[in-house]
Amino acid sequence: MQLTDYRPRSALVTKTTLILQPRFPVVDAHNHLGEAFGGGWEKRTASEVLDVLDAAGVRIYVDLDGGFSEHYLHHHLDHFKAVAPERFRIFGGVNWSAWPEQGNRFGQWAAAQLRAQAARGADGLKVWKPFGLQVRDHLGALVPVDDPRLDPLWAAAGELHLPVVVHVADPVAFFDPLDEHNERWEELQAHPDWQFPSPPYPSFESVVTGLANLVARHPGTTFVGAHVGCYSENLAWVSALLDRCPNFFVDIAARISELGRQPYSARRFCLAYADRILFGIDMGPDLEAYRRYYRFLETDDEYFNYSGREIPDQGRWSIHGLYLPDDVLQKIYSANAQRILVKRS
Ligand SMILES: [Zn+2]
Repeated sequence: MQLTDYRPRSALVTKTTLILQPRFPVVDAHNHLGEAFGGGWEKRTASEVLDVLDAAGVRIYVDLDGGFSEHYLHHHLDHFKAVAPERFRIFGGVNWSAWPEQGNRFGQWAAAQLRAQAARGADGLKVWKPFGLQVRDHLGALVPVDDPRLDPLWAAAGELHLPVVVHVADPVAFFDPLDEHNERWEELQAHPDWQFPSPPYPSFESVVTGLANLVARHPGTTFVGAHVGCYSENLAWVSALLDRCPNFFVDIAARISELGRQPYSARRFCLAYADRILFGIDMGPDLEAYRRYYRFLETDDEYFNYSGREIPDQGRWSIHGLYLPDDVLQKIYSANAQRILVKRS
């Protein structure tokens, strides 16, 4: 038998708690409705999405797929938010491809674009991971995450009270050599384009250091570090940035795999930073996925599958629930996101 064919089944006799509805209403602060990450729900009706959200106990759904083109942003605003304004928040994006044309004035231009998106109804700004890894300026040089030419953009987000959800870098193993020690070897075999070997890419450390500099330099702008502050493998690093920058928040989207394999550290982290953590699943409106997240946050179930697949896609390990207390759950499920988003409502 090849190791890749090995599918051991746990013989543990432990409890399985089925959580159908969350203990408190939920704001899903990191999700999608577009083709690539949201399962193409943009082609379905708002009421179909709302049926899933109602079943899952989700009150507000943050769709990060507004993007920057009129096509996407306006479509998502008209198709979802206009139908149920109290249930949807739509985030805009940055059109990096205009940098060659705008040159060193790109930051001012992007700020003006953001103001226009806000006027049209955008509720925040989503920055995707090409930033820091692939985005280049008019001279072809890589744009670092803390590039001062972008200061006008971040300042505008602060003035407009638009939260910035920022995803830079990726799992640390995506930057590591693809050898027998790489803990995401199977995932990278399936997605070879997710590797960022350095060189030519910058190191993981330099990208997240850029994030820390960026957040510290703009205390008047609210940043949400996606996927547990972009460094879920190192909660001490994320904690240090949260300590240093009161304008920094994190979401847990697509990272119960990481949090649940370090359950003691993760639980301490959630208790210590209960006011700074946002709920999100990043898997489209998916009832079963919501229920896995609720089980993870609410129960003390042990050693369970964090994904819907027999071989979990982020790595062959299992997770443990955090059994968070009610006051912490309530903040992570909704109060923190409401506080950030409410300024726009
Ligand atoms: Zn996402």
